[in-house]
Amino acid sequence: MLTFFPKPYPDELLYSIIARYHVWSGNDEMSDSMEQLFGDRRERATLLIPKHFKYLAEKTKEFGLSYETLLYEHTIFPLITCFLSKNSYDHTLQSVINENQLIIPLCIYKDSIYPRFLKYCPHCIMDDRDEYGEAYWHRKHQSFGVEMCDKHRCLLKESDIEIIDSRSNRYIALNLLNEITVTLEEENIPCFNIELQIAYDIDYIYKNYEFIRRMLWEKHSSIRETTIALLFNRKLATQKGLVKNNRLRHEFNNKYISTCFKQILLNLQDNKTADWLITLCRGGKNTVVPIRFILFTNFLAGSLESFMGLLNEQEKFIDKKKEEYNPPNGYEEKLVQYRKRWLDAWNKNPCGCRSDLKKSDSSAYTWLIRHDHEWLLNHLPQIKKPKVRTKVKDWIKIDNELESLVEKAVYKIKNSGGKPERITIANIRRYIRPKVLLQRNYKLLPKTMYKIGQYVETIYDYRLRKIEWAKSELEKEGKSATPHIVLQKSGIRPDDWNKFRQLLTS
Ligand SMILES: [Zn+2]
Repeated sequence: MLTFFPKPYPDELLYSIIARYHVWSGNDEMSDSMEQLFGDRRERATLLIPKHFKYLAEKTKEFGLSYETLLYEHTIFPLITCFLSKNSYDHTLQSVINENQLIIPLCIYKDSIYPRFLKYCPHCIMDDRDEYGEAYWHRKHQSFGVEMCDKHRCLLKESDIEIIDSRSNRYIALNLLNEITVTLEEENIPCFNIELQIAYDIDYIYKNYEFIRRMLWEKHSSIRETTIALLFNRKLATQKGLVKNNRLRHEFNNKYISTCFKQILLNLQDNKTADWLITLCRGGKNTVVPIRFILFTNFLAGSLESFMGLLNEQEKFIDKKKEEYNPPNGYEEKLVQYRKRWLDAWNKNPCGCRSDLKKSDSSAYTWLIRHDHEWLLNHLPQIKKPKVRTKVKDWIKIDNELESLVEKAVYKIKNSGGKPERITIANIRRYIRPKVLLQRNYKLLPKTMYKIGQYVETIYDYRLRKIEWAKSELEKEGKSATPHIVLQKSGIRPDDWNKFRQLLTS
């Protein structure tokens, strides 16, 4: 039985509570404290969830600290599981409950998106000492990607306490650190707004993680819609909902390039399979690393909170739209009235086009398009095809111009470098601009077509040219040019070699 357990401070990390326990217990050996708290002398210190967490929670129950309270209020569990799919979340929770080692979602390990050293805010230390008589490790300062204290708007400092799991890890109270004489300095913080927003968002997650998780699970299909709508506003998606991937990556990079998230951004550029940004746009159900989701929503909506707000309101928004389409008061009278007005306008101007009628009674048009759409569609003037003014082209002049380009095109084909290309009509056409002109109107261009015909190669001529090319290549490489090697290099099918072998030997 425990004789005492420290009362946790607001947002205090479990690591910190245990460290304070060790200090106040007066135990010389850390292993004695581990034995008392976890029933295991070899229990290792961790930022995450201790191996024998359940054992500890059993003991702290009598001090009013349940398993859930410790897990959700004092570990980073809510943050690292906030954006998991339901399956992954359940799996992670189960592994915590079953005291399996695998308690960090794999992606977080894999990308080493994981803080290495415990951090603190110098101003918080001063405040906490004033208020509680001692300093402690704050949970939200230990989140990967957070660089600032949201309360004091200052940079966090990194301690030298490493928290990556290792055998030698110990629980060390913040108050015991040597360097802890706090100096408050004027700071020049690069990317102040971005860093501060991240700090706010982390705070928001800890305060609202149940809401966020529920929203992400329940409104999963809305995530994509909301995302596309926001991207569309910024011209980063098309009306049909296609994301302009390259432009998005580019703008995203530009926004965050000078922050400390270079490694995340690197993944963005280099590794196509791990293209998390695009996956997020698609509303992928994959496991999401918290900081990425934060950066993504900040980019889209300014903050995680406003993004969640948009998701939440989407349904209301859709309902509201439906309301708008419900028959308004006096619907029947208005229907008769506006239909009549519309037909009157048309009668007055029987040859008018749609926009003429719209102009002559715009309120009738607006009402009908909203409330009587189908009727209106059947009572509109035919769309008039605009008269196309065809410019008569001077084909003789064009023919002369194009003819003069043929020779140059052939020269380009012959000197394109690498293995020779065969000179065909299509190939010559490729080098003559504008291409379409020649393709569609070849009948109107007799001189050009005649000239092209003069240059077009037969297969036999083409092969001869390839042989010449192979010979000169071999010579350049200083290799012997036996008929066999030349023919092989020229790329002529072995079946046809006999036709050319004689040429090479004579
Ligand atoms: Zn602070």
